[in-house]
Amino acid sequence: TSNLLAGKRGLVMGVANNRSIAWGIARAAHLHGAELAFTYQGEALEKRVRPLAAELGAQVVGHCDVTDPATIDAVFEEVNRLWGGLDFVVHCIAFSDKDELTGRYVDTTEANFSKSLLISCYSFTAIAQRAEKLMSNGGSMLTLTYYGAEKWMPHYNVMGVAKAALEASVRYLAADLGPRNIRVNAISAGPIKTLAASGIGDFRYILRWNEYNSPLRRTVTIEEVGDTAAYLVSDMARGMTGEILHVDAGYHVVGMKNPEAPDL
Ligand code: NAD
Repeated sequence: TSNLLAGKRGLVMGVANNRSIAWGIARAAHLHGAELAFTYQGEALEKRVRPLAAELGAQVVGHCDVTDPATIDAVFEEVNRLWGGLDFVVHCIAFSDKDELTGRYVDTTEANFSKSLLISCYSFTAIAQRAEKLMSNGGSMLTLTYYGAEKWMPHYNVMGVAKAALEASVRYLAADLGPRNIRVNAISAGPIKTLAASGIGDFRYILRWNEYNSPLRRTVTIEEVGDTAAYLVSDMARGMTGEILHVDAGYHVVGMKNPEAPDL
């Protein structure tokens, strides 16, 4: 614990349960002194998010489904009513039809392509439009991406294309919002078993592959992603924007299978 984020107010979007990366980030931000507010997607998740928010003494500012812009407006209005400003926002939102997170990318349908890009990429820009108005003293925006944006990964398919677009949007948003001292960064997290990840084909194989082949010979936790997120939204990272930081046990530097790894 520290006072790294004391006096900072942050909106956390994308908690589904206590395994969510957003929850790891929220806990870390709380431990470093931030005051937090959460959104949830739909009534089923509200039941999970409310008790988690209560654990951190955090606010719940309402339902947000990023495919419905009125709900994005509503939660930012609520944040404004509550705090009259905002220091950071954490975007941990992605979606693709499970049927297309297996097999070949070339078979992606137009409908799922549009939906995946809207939810997993455009939503960060939609949120930036609202957040900018509340960050009159500067601020920090953070999103979550994956190495499948940079390199082909089995089954990741349209999500890889969406994450590549998301990473590009981090750079464009950083340039647009930099003059207002709003920083925009992403964490590229290694694979973690969450609700969203369980939709990806052969996910257990991907976890084991990373365990055997990453420099640290393990996968990462939501606590580790959370600690890096706390740093990125803090003034310690005040000179950084447009950056994609890998929190992946070093997997992204590896060019070949570890010869000592067992066959999977
Ligand atoms: P998760 O299932 O816990 O979180 C995904 C969240 O997205 C959920 O809270 C869900 O409600 C939200 N969401 C989906 N569609 C939405 C919509 N239309 N409107 C609002 N919210 C919506 O899974 P997670 O793994 O913690 O995912 C968080 C982020 O981390 C995602 O962007 C994911 O791509 C990214 N990521 C995950 C991994 C991993 O291995 N788990 C690795 C790298 C990046």
